[in-house]
Amino acid sequence: MKIAILGAGYGGMVAAWDLRKAGHDVTIFEAANYAGGLASGFKEPHWDWSVEKFYHHWFQSDSEMLELIRELGLEDKVIFPRPLTVMLHKNKWYPFDSILNALLFPGLGFGLNKIRFGFVGLFLRITKNWQALEKVTAHEWMMKYAGKKVYEQMWQPLLIGKFASYYKDVNMAWLWARMHARTTRLGTFEGGFQKFADLFADKLREKGVEIRLGTSIKSIKKDQASGGLSVDGEHFDKVLVTTSPSLMAKLCPELPESYLKGLLGLKSMGAVVMTLSLKHSLSKEGYYWFNVPKEEGYPFLALVEHTNFVSKEHFGGDHIVYAGDYLELGHEYFEMTDEQLLERFIPAFEKFNPEFKRDWVKKIWVHKTNYAQPVPLVGHSKNIPAIQTPIEGLYFASMSQVYPWDRGTNFAVEIGRKAARMMN
Ligand SMILES: Cc1cc2nc3c(=O)[nH]c(=O)nc-3n(C[C@H](O)[C@H](O)[C@H](O)COP(=O)(O)OP(=O)(O)OC[C@H]3O[C@@H](n4cnc5c(N)ncnc54)[C@H](O)[C@@H]3O)c2cc1C
Repeated sequence: MKIAILGAGYGGMVAAWDLRKAGHDVTIFEAANYAGGLASGFKEPHWDWSVEKFYHHWFQSDSEMLELIRELGLEDKVIFPRPLTVMLHKNKWYPFDSILNALLFPGLGFGLNKIRFGFVGLFLRITKNWQALEKVTAHEWMMKYAGKKVYEQMWQPLLIGKFASYYKDVNMAWLWARMHARTTRLGTFEGGFQKFADLFADKLREKGVEIRLGTSIKSIKKDQASGGLSVDGEHFDKVLVTTSPSLMAKLCPELPESYLKGLLGLKSMGAVVMTLSLKHSLSKEGYYWFNVPKEEGYPFLALVEHTNFVSKEHFGGDHIVYAGDYLELGHEYFEMTDEQLLERFIPAFEKFNPEFKRDWVKKIWVHKTNYAQPVPLVGHSKNIPAIQTPIEGLYFASMSQVYPWDRGTNFAVEIGRKAARMMN
């Protein structure tokens, strides 16, 4: 079969890998000039490693991802350093990177709250019944079982940070998925995620997959004359699309009304992430990930000092810091210039390190995406579009369909492989 795949993100690439192995003639169309999609990176000439546009790491529990890496023979390039994650309480940062540290966190007080926090955590690790949890919002469930104090200290800031005005609407299965499937150890690829994407793309090309970079597809139509599908006028027997649901709807308006309605009804958050190269380290204590409580007036959700995860030696001695946020479309950050955003962020950097000076900043990069985080509402499983669309030969696999899991490269690999099995 002649197969087209739209998107050289992890989902598209792994589907191409499996379909090529099954003997099909596979072409990937990728709008950008590089592979890797949302998990791609960039590099300065004096850096040996790339930096992700949107901070990324793997969890030790990312079995689909780690299995793919093994299959590609790249397992010796995956590293799991031991960075420090911290959480704020009364203007002081406390370690928050293990179950023990979470239990010791003073923000929870003593006695009953700690016990409730522990039991809720344990229950969510053990139960597999996410179907029951998707019937209720995380807000209601946590208020009831973890209690007001634990919820407001631990979970509400995360929900507000990720989902803004939707935070009371997100279902409990989303929080379950994060706690059920994630470990605390964080990993990365030697050379950065872009290095992995480039090596993966090379292996695909070696196997005979054609990757057309810089090729943004405008339309997919039924090919009336020969059957199959037409991708910008080129014939294919089957097509897999791995873009956002709204783009899928635009690409293929011939999809039946009900499927289109389903695609367009899905809600998601965008993201704006600033990367800075600094002359000095921002965190004197060597912290990697700061869980920032946005409701306390910080202009971003996460502050991540990447060079407290991997060595600054890979970046010519530059200290790399990310400041990022999940935002609803139309938020002012999407319109602001990079300089305006920096001016907005600078007072916050001073809170992390009072010695921070504007002239520490060597260079900044700002990356924005409209499609960063699907928003799962109550009863969400009913809203997930089928991978096999009602048009024969046309398939769709996106971040919005990995539910009940939260989006992530691991689940892009899982759904890409599932789509390939269905197409084979
Ligand atoms: C801020 C942020 C932080 C994240 N952190 C992590 C993390 O720590 N760990 C983790 O595992 N995951 C993380 N993720 C999620 C992860 O990046 C995604 O789940 C994963 O990359 C999705 O892969 P995909 O192949 O489904 O889609 P994408 O990577 O979005 O790939 C889709 C591809 O389609 C291309 N495309 C779009 N339109 C067209 C067109 N018309 N024609 C041709 N090509 C087109 C795009 O350019 C893109 O390359 C994060 C995401 C964000 C936004």
